[in-house]
Amino acid sequence: MELPFAEPYKIKVVEPIYRSTRQEREAWIAEAHYNLFNLRSDQVYIDLLTDSGTGALSQMQWSEIMLGDESYAGSLSYHKLKDTIMKLLGMPYFLPAHQGRAAENVLFSAMLKAGDIVPGNSHFDTTKGHIEYRRAIAVDCTIDEAADTSLFHPFKGNIDVGKLEAVFQQYPKEKIPLCIITITNNTAGGQPVSMENIRKASEVCRKYGVPMFLDAARFAENAYFIKTREKGYQDKSIREIVLEMFSYADGATMSSKKDAIVNIGGFMACRDKSLYQKASVFNIMYEGFITYGGLAGRDLGALAQGLMEGTELDFLESRIGQVALLGQMLHDYGIPMQQPTGGHAVFIDASKFLPQVPREQFRAQTLAVELYLEGGVRGVEIGTILADRDPITRENRYPALELLRLAVPRRAYTNNHIAYVAACLKNIFDRRNEISKGLVIVEEAPIMRHFTVELKKA
Ligand SMILES: *Cc1c(COP(=O)(O)O)cnc(C)c1O
Repeated sequence: MELPFAEPYKIKVVEPIYRSTRQEREAWIAEAHYNLFNLRSDQVYIDLLTDSGTGALSQMQWSEIMLGDESYAGSLSYHKLKDTIMKLLGMPYFLPAHQGRAAENVLFSAMLKAGDIVPGNSHFDTTKGHIEYRRAIAVDCTIDEAADTSLFHPFKGNIDVGKLEAVFQQYPKEKIPLCIITITNNTAGGQPVSMENIRKASEVCRKYGVPMFLDAARFAENAYFIKTREKGYQDKSIREIVLEMFSYADGATMSSKKDAIVNIGGFMACRDKSLYQKASVFNIMYEGFITYGGLAGRDLGALAQGLMEGTELDFLESRIGQVALLGQMLHDYGIPMQQPTGGHAVFIDASKFLPQVPREQFRAQTLAVELYLEGGVRGVEIGTILADRDPITRENRYPALELLRLAVPRRAYTNNHIAYVAACLKNIFDRRNEISKGLVIVEEAPIMRHFTVELKKA
């Protein structure tokens, strides 16, 4: 018999988690105004709110924390990270930052001005926020297939190279300071981008003289999908694939809270010395001196070690395998979701799950609350509440999809936890016809309302 794949680690330290009763959860979610962000973490049994900063460190990362060199300038932990970034990504220059959005702030401060155009494949919220805050425009050139949840496409995160070239033809080069390819494409559901697509996008960028950057939060998961899905890469190692992906790029930003498996940290990297020098000034102003960038020396060391562990095939196989297992169990129960499952999360299609709940009563949020009540599991709405109101008409902006995202933290939960989550959703699916009413808003902020919104039962 073929041996099943099992985790390439065992557990040395455990954190107890409280299994509440349904009665307790009824009271807590009402106190939280039906917004899962308002729950205390001890009111949650399994927390799938995000995979960002929630992974479990390894014994080697904890060792790096003890070895952390806290020198203000020239810390050895900084040099360890610099050498790792050079070896793994082939980028000679880098600046540490306290997380991904901070690295974006530093890079965009050096590169963007009002009126600029930044094409890419579904820019992440903070990326888009930093672009729009500078009164520049993020143009989404993702392939159309990404919007169809039931369609199988091995690289649903791809950029449409035709759409990208059309942007380059429409605007003069001076208005397009960079193009950003997000690997994996978080906004499209953690969907990967193929090597062929990265290469073709870089060729078009080069032809028009526009630098291409990677938003590399989940670069290792992307490399794993290339290895397992793209022709010609089966026999290449993850690190060979990573080096090739970055070889097409002029630079990158990274939220290290994802594939570097640390609780906090990020960086930007590039090949051009003059860009590095320009960005260094902003790093010093916003983050800290260029050899620590808002992080402790111990954080830099743990990040360097995490980059190495995050690019190990065994780890990626168990990590992405666990997300795929959740997807497979839900699929077997007939639960509608984004196909195929992405690297870090499963996205449930709440419009197909609860079509009888009116859209203005927030189907995905309704499902998120039901899942919490059923088993103390916390997911997050990626739907109308997140999409905010139209800035001019102030009407709700209904996105194409109402999704409930279940993001799986790295190395934190066992497959029993995964089976428990799937069972909770099956129970709700079995009684879905009894859920006819959703939620209505009582209080909301003018922008980014999803963090603080207060709701009540409709
Ligand atoms: C998380 C994330 C960011 C922002 O990083 P933070 O560390 O949360 O600031 C940027 N891009 C992508 C694709 C991300 O997933």
